[in-house]
Amino acid sequence: MRGSELRGGEPTDGPGTGGLRAQLDSYLTGQEDRLIAFRRDIHMHPELGYAEHRTTARIAEELTAAGLHPVPLPKGTGLICEVGCGDGPVVALRADIDALPLPDEKDVPYRSTVPGVTHACGHDVHTTVMLGVAQFFAQQAKAGQLPGRVRLIFQPAEENPGGALDVMAAGGIAGVDRIFALHCDPRVEVGQVGLRVGPITAACDKVTVRVTGPGGHTARPHLTADLVYALAKIVTELPAAFSRRVDPRSSLSLVWGRVSAGSVANAIPDEGIAQGTVRCFDDEAWHAAPDLMKALLDSVASAYDVKSELDYVRGVPPTINERSTVDLLRQAAKSALGEDSVVPTPQSLAGEDFAWYLESIPGALARLGVAPPGMAGAYDLHRGTFDVDERCIANGVRFMAAAALLALGEAHNSAVEPEAVESAATV
Ligand SMILES: [Zn+2]
Ligand SMILES: [Zn+2]
Repeated sequence: MRGSELRGGEPTDGPGTGGLRAQLDSYLTGQEDRLIAFRRDIHMHPELGYAEHRTTARIAEELTAAGLHPVPLPKGTGLICEVGCGDGPVVALRADIDALPLPDEKDVPYRSTVPGVTHACGHDVHTTVMLGVAQFFAQQAKAGQLPGRVRLIFQPAEENPGGALDVMAAGGIAGVDRIFALHCDPRVEVGQVGLRVGPITAACDKVTVRVTGPGGHTARPHLTADLVYALAKIVTELPAAFSRRVDPRSSLSLVWGRVSAGSVANAIPDEGIAQGTVRCFDDEAWHAAPDLMKALLDSVASAYDVKSELDYVRGVPPTINERSTVDLLRQAAKSALGEDSVVPTPQSLAGEDFAWYLESIPGALARLGVAPPGMAGAYDLHRGTFDVDERCIANGVRFMAAAALLALGEAHNSAVEPEAVESAATV
């Protein structure tokens, strides 16, 4: 697929090369309004993680109507639907479907009807885009024009998080060659996409350190263990030691949010606690962090003769976009949305559970521009006022469809004879 095929120029080199653009135009001319209506319906009926029953049923209904066969996930919300057949390559596209426990503060006809719950992270848009891609590919497959299989993953519970692990436990990415996802970005204007190679979102883990000792009088710290002093050493030494024991390029940081010990001025307490978060952009450093933290903690605690316990709760890994997948996304965006549609995007210290998939298979997360023209940054995610320019839905369908076809073509390229690449890339 070349840059001129989807936008910005008539096909010039034979029948079929302008086909994808024309077919997407034709599909969206007929279906864009329906997709927007679907998004509004989901938006009006938001559901929290693992409670997305209605959302799952609505997606399944639409997929079934398109002649597809969605398979629900074992916990009852979320589903997986494969389009196409045969032994060819498999590309996965992931949408998350859950909403947030926030009140909807917008004054729009499609405002949330569920008190205290709203789609403030744009997962209604992600869901609708992937539904559109599924419907489009269902047409392509019927016409014998899908050179492989596209697996649509409608994942529950991204915000909780945990939904990605359920998908993986259910075999959701088995056999997948490459996986894509997009996420609404209100800092990027509609019509553009933000791309980045390498880490795009951070790991975020929660840690709790508990120290205990015999306690005693502050007049005699040498006869007991000076627990407050030891806790203060732990709270300052651990972040400092991390900064010298871990590659600084990983951006690993340990920041405390709560420290607590004691109740009166002249008694050494027998227990103290510190709680904080570990954030990190590097997968290797993230995997090593719990053991390193435990070792550092033991070493400081033993120097002051207090006992220590570490409760290290994993959040999500850092999302690390694989370079060749980002190259495919860049090519797809230029073809589908125009030569100038790709903008760089900064790293975010927020977590994203799409990262779990990328621990096993190559893939990338793209930022989908959703801000109305001239209003980049006017809205923010996780706010009750968050909304999108709904033209982002058609853009998302074009972008993801083009990316999936490019990836299928590329997979053919490495596995099959060169002619297959041409047919894959020019449907
Ligand atoms: Zn979110
Ligand atoms: Zn989100």
